[in-house]
Amino acid sequence: MTRLAREAQVDAVVWSWGYDGSLIERHRELQRAVEEAGLRAVLLHDAPALSPEDAKPARAEGDGYRAFAPYLAAWRQHAPSVVVSRLTFANSVPPSEAIPIPAEFGSAAEQALKPAVATASEDAAAHVLAAFLRGPALAYATHRNVPALATSRLSAHLSFGTISARTILAAVAERAADPFLLAEERLSLDRFVAALARRDFFFQLAWFYPHSAREPLQERMRAFRFARSHRALEAWRRGMTGYPLVDAGIRELIATGTMHPRARAVAASFLCFDLGVEWRTGQDVWDHLLVEDDPALATGNWQWIAGVGADLAQYPRIYNPRKQARRLDPSGTYIRHWIPELASLPPAELFEPDRAQQRAQLALPLGGTLQYPPPIIDHDAVARQFLARYSEFTRRSAGRWASADRASR
Ligand SMILES: Cc1cc2nc3c(=O)[nH]c(=O)nc-3n(C[C@H](O)[C@H](O)[C@H](O)COP(=O)(O)OP(=O)(O)OC[C@H]3O[C@@H](n4cnc5c(N)ncnc54)[C@H](O)[C@@H]3O)c2cc1C
Repeated sequence: MTRLAREAQVDAVVWSWGYDGSLIERHRELQRAVEEAGLRAVLLHDAPALSPEDAKPARAEGDGYRAFAPYLAAWRQHAPSVVVSRLTFANSVPPSEAIPIPAEFGSAAEQALKPAVATASEDAAAHVLAAFLRGPALAYATHRNVPALATSRLSAHLSFGTISARTILAAVAERAADPFLLAEERLSLDRFVAALARRDFFFQLAWFYPHSAREPLQERMRAFRFARSHRALEAWRRGMTGYPLVDAGIRELIATGTMHPRARAVAASFLCFDLGVEWRTGQDVWDHLLVEDDPALATGNWQWIAGVGADLAQYPRIYNPRKQARRLDPSGTYIRHWIPELASLPPAELFEPDRAQQRAQLALPLGGTLQYPPPIIDHDAVARQFLARYSEFTRRSAGRWASADRASR
């Protein structure tokens, strides 16, 4: 960096913080190195709309928020300053090395990445945002819960900086100024704003609690044991669990490098609770498949699903994959699209293809017409077992934490 700065004959280096635990320290080291080289180092909080330092609770110096609701209330009070301008670059760009390709990192995401790379530009991001604000944004409250309907698809652009969260918020504010909007359309725009605030929330978690990059944010959940792996992990990774909504989501991810937010939650919950596999394993698997690359957001979400991160709930968020499929994809549009083997099944059989298979006895033998696998696990049974183990753990640890709390008084 310092060599590059000298070659470009600049006297200040300005860049944005990264929020992954190890990145924060690396940025501090870089800042020191740049200053020792006699240059000015200016570090900005450019990824979030609102800097973590601006929304931190006044009472707890140095600590951030661990729950989203109070964070959102504070975030709303600090309207992010909107500076929408285009950068211009010097004509003489020093020579640089070729951009690395996914295969160099052992990733197989080359094919999935192609469309995203081809459309990675500020103009493309602006186009995606404009198209979203013209239509889907006004029904976002519904779209975010229905996997067959599109959300903004801005996460990769946000991740790579082809658009900023502040630019998006400014455009949403302009759209919301339309006096002819219906009340539910305004509500949808507001939900979308809250989604961007959630992104800032996870950045501030990573900023104030850097240890949470690899350790559960909740100290009291660190001793809870998830398995490292499971005999059915590979089936989950390939979208072959026999649970259609889980598999449809994972196949969407493999094919496109992204996945609808609700499908993500159901597929992640299945890994943590049905297979009992820890969130780090899931995060690592998806890291190779997702186009966007924001470790702080991935960690925050995975820990939230696993019940070891923000918003510690009394019970884990165990989704019943069949009930969720009926609720979120009642017409089966999403499942039929991503699981062509099931496309011709009638609605009544789509969510439980194995039962349909049993009913038809040998009419649809596995490996015959229906290539879709039977469920790799009995959801109801494993969910009950997991809950029993979880309740036992929280009961025992509640006692331990209560005595620790008393001792520290
Ligand atoms: C297990 C799991 C892992 C996830 N991993 C990632 C990840 O690695 N990177 C990532 O950006 N998001 C992640 N998410 C959050 C969310 O699913 C994606 O941001 C969203 O699906 C991206 O699609 P979109 O741009 O159409 O989102 P929209 O619904 O249109 O939301 C707009 C933007 O708001 C932000 N946002 C919305 N929800 C969240 C959220 N829960 N957390 C953080 N930001 C949010 C994103 O930047 C998103 O692009 C994860 C969610 C789960 C449940």
